[in-house]
Amino acid sequence: MRPTYLGKILLHWCDNCFVPVLAPLCSCGSATREVCITPPGDARPAFPYDIRFINNIFEETFGGNLIPDGTLVLLNKAPDPDRMEEIIIGGAVVGAIRYDTKKQSWEALPRIYSYSLVKPKKRYIIVDDGAVTSIRDDGSSLLAPGLVFIDPHVRAGDEVYLVSKNMECIGVGRAKVDAKTALTMKKGSIVRTRKNAPAVFKEGNATWDDAVRSNQPALDEFVSSSCMFIENVVNDNPNLCLTISYSGGKDSLATLLLVLQVVGKVPMLFADTGFEFKETYENIEKVSKLYDLPVIRTDGNTKFWERFNEEGPPARNFRWCCRVCKLNPLSEIINAKIGNCLTFVGQRKYESQTRKQSPRVWRNRNIPAQLACAPIQHWTALHVWLYIMQEKAPYNILYEQGLDRIGCYMCPSSDLGVIEHVKQSHPQLWCEWEEKVIKWGIEHGFQPGWAENGGWRIRGQSGYETDNNC
Ligand SMILES: [Zn+2]
Repeated sequence: MRPTYLGKILLHWCDNCFVPVLAPLCSCGSATREVCITPPGDARPAFPYDIRFINNIFEETFGGNLIPDGTLVLLNKAPDPDRMEEIIIGGAVVGAIRYDTKKQSWEALPRIYSYSLVKPKKRYIIVDDGAVTSIRDDGSSLLAPGLVFIDPHVRAGDEVYLVSKNMECIGVGRAKVDAKTALTMKKGSIVRTRKNAPAVFKEGNATWDDAVRSNQPALDEFVSSSCMFIENVVNDNPNLCLTISYSGGKDSLATLLLVLQVVGKVPMLFADTGFEFKETYENIEKVSKLYDLPVIRTDGNTKFWERFNEEGPPARNFRWCCRVCKLNPLSEIINAKIGNCLTFVGQRKYESQTRKQSPRVWRNRNIPAQLACAPIQHWTALHVWLYIMQEKAPYNILYEQGLDRIGCYMCPSSDLGVIEHVKQSHPQLWCEWEEKVIKWGIEHGFQPGWAENGGWRIRGQSGYETDNNC
């Protein structure tokens, strides 16, 4: 899948403070260097849960942890048929994890810089001196004559480290044969090597408080620009009631903090689909109480089940849910209780192509009484997180439990890797949903097993209209 730029990649690194910085200059005075990550480059902090999760995958695969204690880690979602996360340490991508939908498990994809961290005890191969240069510099495959030692655990398809006889890592790649076969081969390719991406890797200890300090000038600039935007939109529309769209996610929280700063208290609009996690409901209550903001809440659940009974679950190519559960109820409540209004929305261009193309002030045709605007349209996820950390604002606890997007727990747009996570973290919620999907399938003559492994998320039958108005 081809990566798409949705904005400039703003991620830099300060080798003096060992932190990510969203500008060419750190607040310590040092020049920062660009970090080469895959577009769109919407990197975010890894929480302790994510770090444990990644370390477990690397430990299981190579016999060593990837992430040392005390270092800052970023994750960057990279284009993939399902889910892939690049792992950034010391200002370099040191590897990735990827969800394998066939094996239904996560795999570790190391890069050369991870070798000194992982110190692999398995899945490594020692290469003869004569093959080192072409593998390291040109990304050539390891051929049978260049093999000195292969860990007996290696199976065809495994990710492996290639090391020289003096145990320096010269490359990483995927084994084409298992260890036993490799030892019998006189010619042919043993490992397909991935070309080494040149990078600077300089690891050291730091905290997220350090990162907030280092980013102060960059963050102040984004905050003041967004505040000015809010002020201008409000001044341009003096007769509209003000509201803030609040979903329980980090982007709406950052937007809420900005709005509080510029215009003071405004009601929170919460489109409740009935499919939110309990942690999200708790966050909405907490934020409402802390900032003393009323919540105007819609109910999209009744309408959802009415439509579900007729047409079955929403799917990626049959996404009726957003209009039925969110937009229509929002439009009704705005007409009944608020009137013409200006709503601040936590939309960002780095999230998707659609959002990048959206104007910063717009009107959704499904909610004609609402003028929407996006104060943080140009922010990356890291801006949002640093701002939330700086303000010590109460973010949704689900972010600390391995989720990076907050929405309906059964969203058909979720990757299988995420669905697998929800199954584990909220088994009862998931069981209830899956039972209803399976029951509907049986009643409507779908093949047994059609819903398995997330199959319900894509409608195979022709004749279904698509509905992508959200
Ligand atoms: Zn610095």
